Amino acid sequence: MRVPKNIYDQIILHAKKDLPNEACGYLAGKGGVVTKAYVIKNIDQSHEHFSFDPQEQFAVIKDMRKRNLVPIAVYHSHPATPARPSKEDIKLAYDPDISYLIISLAGNVPDIKSFKIKKDSQNDNQMNKEQTNNNQPKCNLHGKSQSNNHRVEKEEIDII
Ligand SMILES: [Zn+2]
Repeated sequence: MRVPKNIYDQIILHAKKDLPNEACGYLAGKGGVVTKAYVIKNIDQSHEHFSFDPQEQFAVIKDMRKRNLVPIAVYHSHPATPARPSKEDIKLAYDPDISYLIISLAGNVPDIKSFKIKKDSQNDNQMNKEQTNNNQPKCNLHGKSQSNNHRVEKEEIDII
């Protein structure tokens, strides 16, 4: 994933602004290059987990479609824990093709890492191939499998 420096700084600022709670949003773009960050309200108002405001999420997905962008990453902050997906983050990860980017504010300097989370019960080649063609905003919460098998793969972030 490639992230322009100004967007990288923007999401760190968002994470700091929403302290003590977790901040969350989407990074959208094309071909793995992020061109826009979308702030979404964390309706959990919690420092340990987040849930997108569903209405804002819907509006954001619609805006992406209008601009011909695709969601590249879901980002959220960890105010006091490392930049690693929590058990709940893994459990709630719904899309094996999207990146999960975590901004940790636990140390003196913000630490940002990105992951792909794949569940073994999911076949990678369903759903997401037609991402740019389908007519529905992609707000799906499928893949509620009972399986605990998952692979968390760290992914490089290039700041451009
Ligand atoms: Zn988390």
